[in-house]
Amino acid sequence: GNNWVQTRPRKGLAERQGWGGNRGVVPQAWLFSSQSQSRQARSLPEVHLRALLEQLDPQRLWGKYLQPLLVERPPGSPGNLKVRQFLEDELRALGAGWQVEVDAFSALTPLGPMAFANVVATLSPEAPRRLTLACHLDSKLFPPGAPPFLGATDSAVPCALLLELVRALDPQDHCGEREGGITLEELFWNREQALKEWGPEDSLYGARHLAQRMEQTPHDFGTSEIQAIEMFVLLDLLGARDPIIKSHFRHTAPWFQRLSSIEKRLHRLGLLASHPREVTYFQPGPPYGAVDDDHTPFLRRGVPILHLIPTPFPAVWHTAADTETNLHPPTVHNLSRILTIFLAEYLGLL
Ligand SMILES: [Zn+2]
Repeated sequence: GNNWVQTRPRKGLAERQGWGGNRGVVPQAWLFSSQSQSRQARSLPEVHLRALLEQLDPQRLWGKYLQPLLVERPPGSPGNLKVRQFLEDELRALGAGWQVEVDAFSALTPLGPMAFANVVATLSPEAPRRLTLACHLDSKLFPPGAPPFLGATDSAVPCALLLELVRALDPQDHCGEREGGITLEELFWNREQALKEWGPEDSLYGARHLAQRMEQTPHDFGTSEIQAIEMFVLLDLLGARDPIIKSHFRHTAPWFQRLSSIEKRLHRLGLLASHPREVTYFQPGPPYGAVDDDHTPFLRRGVPILHLIPTPFPAVWHTAADTETNLHPPTVHNLSRILTIFLAEYLGLL
């Protein structure tokens, strides 16, 4: 999570800065009317829904995936390398259908040149379309002498959720059943959180590098990898109690609405714990202004974005109190349930 940059609707911003218009011959209208809008997700029958939720393992999410991430892990630190290797190992353990890559690069930062590495996991890379889930794996660097910053919500919980979701869904098992040639991809990056001032030249290193690389990597039918991304779902700052999450983009509003509907359905079925209202997290309403984050380099290249970030940010944001103790486990597990059903329906897994 970063500074609040925009509270205006994105449309005005896009028009002023020409976002989405930098893709040469590909008209923006074509990009935004691509399959994320025409794809029709079907609601899972209740028996399938319950069976899928059974595949989630709250202890695995917390003990196996989340706790190893709760170390100081700014880029270049031993903790960062350890976390990156942990993610890589867990993603490789998903099975042979997954291609796991470390995307290493160096970039010039205000502190001098630094080495970075993103982790990219793609199931069936040859599939024509991808649903891409993303979060940052590093923690923000604070000046020497500052208390340790563990970034439990920022973004250890999102990383653990991404691991648990693919593990529970095991989309590989459903290879023959995935509809419309869609597959799943997960991106974990080192963003390097604004060592000095947040700004376009000192932020989002991993996302900027990866967006550029994917734009230059050929894919099917004369397209690039970035054009294969049907929708890009960014998770950030999740794990505190009862986050208020809003829709940020008109072109993904129907998908945001599905999250809201799934939340309501699970609530009515009694499948969410410590969940006060039918719709506690995914608040319907007109698109809220964009919040600057790692999706920006993808947004600028015309990729439809679903940005799952609470507004306001958690109270512990960028403080030493962003720790495991201040997480709200029922919220984390509820989010894992809602997102599991969302992904299963999007991917057509039954
Ligand atoms: Zn942050």
